[in-house]
Amino acid sequence: MMKQYTSLDRMMAALNFERPDRVPVFLNNALASSRAIGLKVGQILRDPERFAEALVTSYKTYGYDGVRVSCDVTVEVEAMGGKVAYPEDAGGSLVEHPIKTPADFDRLKMPNPLTDGRMPLMQKVVSLARSQVGDNTFIAATVQGPMNVAAQLVGVPNAMMMIFKNPEFLEKLLDFAVEVSFAYGSAMYKAGANCITFGEASCSVSMMGPAHYRRFVKPRHERLMTAFREAGHPYQTMHICGKLDPILLDVAETGIRSADIDAPVDMAAAREKLGSRLAMIGNVSPVELMEAPAERVTELAKGVLDGKEGLGLVLGAGCNMSPLTPPENIRAMVEAARDYGVYE
Ligand SMILES: [Zn+2]
Repeated sequence: MMKQYTSLDRMMAALNFERPDRVPVFLNNALASSRAIGLKVGQILRDPERFAEALVTSYKTYGYDGVRVSCDVTVEVEAMGGKVAYPEDAGGSLVEHPIKTPADFDRLKMPNPLTDGRMPLMQKVVSLARSQVGDNTFIAATVQGPMNVAAQLVGVPNAMMMIFKNPEFLEKLLDFAVEVSFAYGSAMYKAGANCITFGEASCSVSMMGPAHYRRFVKPRHERLMTAFREAGHPYQTMHICGKLDPILLDVAETGIRSADIDAPVDMAAAREKLGSRLAMIGNVSPVELMEAPAERVTELAKGVLDGKEGLGLVLGAGCNMSPLTPPENIRAMVEAARDYGVYE
């Protein structure tokens, strides 16, 4: 008899370059899932019961292959005193960064994931979702990586300027940020996540050059992945927005299992180059998912699925999906994997 794959089996097989029954579909639609229960993002964002209900309802309605618990880039820094604004239909954004002068760094306290800001709330979303979907469903929880945490602590333009003007301080910030990502990530595993997705938009090559990624961030990524592996958590994925082709090999060398690949990357070429060193999740454009007709979405998904014989492949959106994404386009993604993603 043929093995029956659960969501968890299918995702783990893909991440491990094994051959599942078909390519899994794993979407970047945590906030967009508010629409599955008829609400705006602001109505679920700080309400763990509703947030979990939206994620689980969307997962069950569309039948994709796992639940992604993710909100915005401010959770870690809000827990350290950053002030966040909450719009009606989007995630939070930072309006005041906790570090304005280097002296502020000395007053900074390591956040406690059990008590500070929205960290406990997000763990509750994971544990509620886990209790509702059971143990056979893949759940990934997003935690900001060290560069995103550092960038949110001082503001993105200031962080980029520090590369040139105060590299020693940036290194200090990044070392601190590694501890933050590890503490919060560990708590998310404990809450029931199978995998942590690190948000590292600030490492995109449109933000910092490859040489700077190698000097400042790569050693911290290596340290973080080693720490998680030693703690018994081998599964992490990295989400870097935009172009990252020139640093993909470096990302793989940090020991991370997979990467979310955004739409501007030539994924077929990247997969060719990386071989079995990095599983890839991607990379249908979230803009097309929102605006294009379903036939176009099917065509784009098929383009990704054409590479399935290389294994290590998950069909997904390149970046955060809009809450305005039409349901028929989400269905087109799921159906494409069933129609064109089957391993014979
Ligand atoms: Zn992104």
